[in-house]
Amino acid sequence: MPIFNPRQQEIAQKLDPQAGKAEWMDWRWHIRHTVRDIDMFEMLLGIQFGASERRKLAETVEKFPMSITPYYLSLIDETDFSLDPVFKQSFPGVDELMIDPHDLRDPLAEDQDSPVAQITHRYPDRVLFHVSNICSMYCRHCTRKRKVGDIDSIPSRKILNEGLEYIRKTPQVRDVLLSGGDPLMLSDRTLDWLLGELRAIDHVEIIRLGTRMPVVLPYRITPQLTEVLQKYHPLYINTHFKHPRELTASSRLALAQLADAGLPLGNQSVLLAGVNDCPRIMKKLVHQLVKNRVRPYYLYQCDLSEGLSHFRTPVGKGIEIIENLIGHTSGLAVPTYVIDAPGGGGKIPVMPNYLISWSTHKVVLRNYEGVITTYKEPDSYEPIFCDRNCESCSLQLKLDDAESDPPLGISELLSDESELITLVPDSNTRLIRRNGNGDTDTD
Ligand SMILES: *Cc1c(COP(=O)(O)O)cnc(C)c1O
Repeated sequence: MPIFNPRQQEIAQKLDPQAGKAEWMDWRWHIRHTVRDIDMFEMLLGIQFGASERRKLAETVEKFPMSITPYYLSLIDETDFSLDPVFKQSFPGVDELMIDPHDLRDPLAEDQDSPVAQITHRYPDRVLFHVSNICSMYCRHCTRKRKVGDIDSIPSRKILNEGLEYIRKTPQVRDVLLSGGDPLMLSDRTLDWLLGELRAIDHVEIIRLGTRMPVVLPYRITPQLTEVLQKYHPLYINTHFKHPRELTASSRLALAQLADAGLPLGNQSVLLAGVNDCPRIMKKLVHQLVKNRVRPYYLYQCDLSEGLSHFRTPVGKGIEIIENLIGHTSGLAVPTYVIDAPGGGGKIPVMPNYLISWSTHKVVLRNYEGVITTYKEPDSYEPIFCDRNCESCSLQLKLDDAESDPPLGISELLSDESELITLVPDSNTRLIRRNGNGDTDTD
């Protein structure tokens, strides 16, 4: 399908009788004409919901607002819209009102790990910087559903400056992820300023930007934008395709512009029931992505945010999808399947098991075909006892560029120099009983 096909022309003119191809390809036109109510949606698609469904839909939109770009709406197949993956991701479903007892408002505890308003600092060396509270399209499966439509704005430079100040005074932060909302809702000028401020911080090695614009509003990717972005390498862009249908001519062009500007591209998908919970769909998607120079990065298990229960699959579906990718296709095309830990533990990879058993000198493995094989381990491995005294070590780490943080968590348990032998949950009743004072210290 070419860019600005007859269907898109019809939608554009229903929204704005003056609109032609130039307006359609102007991202700000789409922002001005995002579809926010059910009447307009019905009119554009030439469909009609029944009275009782409409009442429930109105209630849903009241709680979780809708916003669909005319472009993304134009991808819906109106002859079979109720099963359409674009429709399901963008149009409210009455199931969103069912709040499961296990649903959480802020499942990833992002608001708790937040030292200043716009920052989530969860991992040792990187932060999430929420630079925009808005998106062009409101994904129905948004993990930050609690915030959608709340404070429909871009934070002021003063608020953004608080985030910058936190990063400036926190030298461990070597990686800053711009997130939102969608950071590409910021103007080119504001992005230029923000990226410039981040680049001026010595300890910030890489910047990443997460955006769904190439999927929902590809016309946001303009030569002016890529001119700004390419000044701030290394800048990685992660986008969010979930279904092969989304890789249209317009999207492919946007991806090519970003890749031509030297921006490495990754993709994060969420596994959604009724949208992409199928190994064949996912294989097709990852193939399309790598063809367009996008490296599949993560496949997410759907979060426990409120109103998403109808989108969730069992974890086994994700494992089955990965099982259908590893070995069957290019390693380059295989994302890491993760569960973002409820309560804020971060992303936990959950992949199929390939290590079946082991003895002191052999491991038993299975491959993707089910062939069981062994790997003989070395007889003469000389372990290096590590006391983190790198100067006297035979391995040649140049100390001035080396990371200096001490080992943490499981890597501390594994380390030679640490005396830590167990990690104990705060609430371990055996140790509380032993110490008689609520203290779970092991010594
Ligand atoms: C996902 C995420 C990151 C980045 O994680 P990577 O695994 O490095 O991509 C950083 N901070 C927060 C809070 C996140 O949710």
